[in-house]
This record gives sequence, C-alpha cells and structure tokens, in this order.
Amino acid sequence: MKITVSVIKADVGGIGGHTRPSDALIDAVKETVKNSGDLLIDHYIGYCGDDVHIVMSHTKGVDNKDIHKLAWDAFEAGTAVAKKEGLYGAGQDLLKDSFSGNVKGMGPGVAELEFEERPNEAFTVFAADKTEPGCFNYPMYRLFVDALSNTGLIVNKSLAEGVRFTIMDVEDGTIADLELWQDKPTLEAALMYPGRYVIAEIHTKEGEPILSASTDRLHNIAGIYVGKDDPVCLIRTQKLFPATEEAGSVFNNPHYVAGNTRGSHNMPLMPVKLNSAATINFCIPIVQSLVFSMHEGKFTGPFDGFSTPDWDYIREQATKKALAIRSQGFIHPATLVPDELEYAEGYKARMSKLKEKMKPMDSKTVTNDRKENYEDPD
Ligand SMILES: [Mg+2]
Repeated sequence: MKITVSVIKADVGGIGGHTRPSDALIDAVKETVKNSGDLLIDHYIGYCGDDVHIVMSHTKGVDNKDIHKLAWDAFEAGTAVAKKEGLYGAGQDLLKDSFSGNVKGMGPGVAELEFEERPNEAFTVFAADKTEPGCFNYPMYRLFVDALSNTGLIVNKSLAEGVRFTIMDVEDGTIADLELWQDKPTLEAALMYPGRYVIAEIHTKEGEPILSASTDRLHNIAGIYVGKDDPVCLIRTQKLFPATEEAGSVFNNPHYVAGNTRGSHNMPLMPVKLNSAATINFCIPIVQSLVFSMHEGKFTGPFDGFSTPDWDYIREQATKKALAIRSQGFIHPATLVPDELEYAEGYKARMSKLKEKMKPMDSKTVTNDRKENYEDPD
C-alpha cells in the first residue's frame, strides 16, 4: 500500500513572545484538521516551541493541493485565535494572503515522503525551533557517513552501500545529488556551511526514500528576514534504514547552530521532550523526536524519543555549552556573520553611523610605514 506522510509546520503565534502556542490556538488547528472528512487516514498535531506541526498520513502523494490547503486552513484558524488573544507574531509564517496550490514558498515548512508501506513501518519526525534547516547537517552526517557515530554503516548491508544525499543551495534554490562513497569530500564541503547548503532528501542507492527535510528559508521568500525557518525532518527507520536509536543518538552531542534570540546567535541544539516551550534563557535552540509506528496509514505514537533519563544529562551538557558561548556576549562567533543576522537592518544602521565617522588615515604615514615593512619578494 502506497502511503504518503506529510509533515507541515508553521509559527502562527506565541504566548508573550516566541515561547509556545496557546491551547486555544492548538485547539483551532486540531478542529480544522479533524473536520477534513476522509482526506486523511490519520494525523497528529503538536508543537515545538512556537511552531505547530501537523503530521498526516494519506494516499494523495507529495505536494498534493488538498493536503497543503488543509494545513494552510488549519494555520489560518490558529492565526485567527492568535490575533484574538493578542499572541506575539500572530500569523507570522503565513506570508501570502491566500492559498495558491502549495504551501511551499508561502511560509510553512514541509517534509513529505511517499513510499510503499512496510508491514512494520517506522519513522521519526525531528522538529526543531529557534534554528534553521542546516541544523540537521551535523547529525545526519553522523548518521549516514560517520561509522564512529553509527556502527550500522558497517553492519547494515544497505547503509554500507552508501546513500544518495540531495543537497540544496538555499540562496539560489538549486539542488545537487551526491552519492556515497565517491562524493564524500564534496558532500563534506557542502555540509560545512549549514547556512548555505542543507540536506533536502536522502535515498538509498536503489531510490527508496529515507529522509525529507523542510528547506524553505523565510528571509529569501519574503525578501527580508522575517524569522528563522525552524525546520522539520522526517526519517524512516529500521531494516534497510538506520535503526531508530541510531537516528536518535546523533543528537547526543549538542552542536552549535544558528538562530536563537533575535535569530542572530550561535547556540547548541538541545534535545527536549515533546510539546516543550522554547526556553526564555536566550532561546536555546531545541529539537524534539516524535517516534511513530504506522500500519495501513494508521499511527501508533508518537513515543517521546528524548524523554528517557539519559537525555536529561544531554540537556545539562547543552545548557553548559549555551552558557559558555553566551559568556562572550555579542562578540562573534557568539553572534552570526552580518549576512545571517535576523536584525541586519539594525546592524546596517549602526555600521552606517560608523562609516560616517571613518576618515582616511594620514596617507604620508601609511606610505612610510609600508615602505619600512615591505620587502620586495623579487
Ligand atoms: Mg519557531
């Protein structure tokens, strides 16, 4: 049976800032999806920080207009509540006035996979807040490329063959397929800069879909920076694919990612429990793990993948790393490079003041200094 799993998410308002949606907002989203007739086989709705995610199973394929419209309508219903309650950023991820066939490019993030369902279909959704799609570069590299992180790359025949990454250049929207193991150094060069090159999809060598991630960059869609494009990633697990515990464990070293307060800092990615609010401790980036079983499109779960006691220790490590980088305040690399700053306009205003005050150095002094220190290599 061919099933499509669609994960569509958006931030349409938070309580008192970028914290979490209100219960009434979530209820409005749930109510809309519940009243969608027989469009869906099953669904689950939750939130990660201020982002609401809708996980849906159906038989309509990816990029289906009806499925995307349902999510859009649900987020509009949530926005109406957010406006009524005076929530912060009400409707902020709905960048267009009306739906036009596909939510891609309209603000919400989308990760979808269509596949022949296995008898014991298993998949995990990783949902992140206060960061960007490139936050998955490091953990997915560990999962699919680094045998020191994942022994499955040695002992699982399918994974040992190597997989095919589809990498997106988020600046110009182009994509490239890179195959393991021959393209390994090229893949590494791309993954090195998560602000520019991100993982869009992963397939087996035979073309079986394993992973889909949301890759829209809100600031490119809107022309100006309107918020970090908090990503979701959908990954099938077990059998030919990574084991669920292999996929989860690659989040056990909280690495630094871009985002956080004002979308302008580097902070570690902290694994948290399902339906956690974003922390008001400078918005440490967070990631949740929704572990599902599925049979004939019906979900069992989600099990909360980061809920067991060991993850408390990882959360403590993430907090220590967060405080460590915050200890150097606004000095880069605690802050992002100018092009990546969410509040670039404010930064540009400061820099134009600085430029007004800039004067040329005394040209005679410069010339003499240079003459003294310069040795002609010829
Ligand atoms: Mg968010």
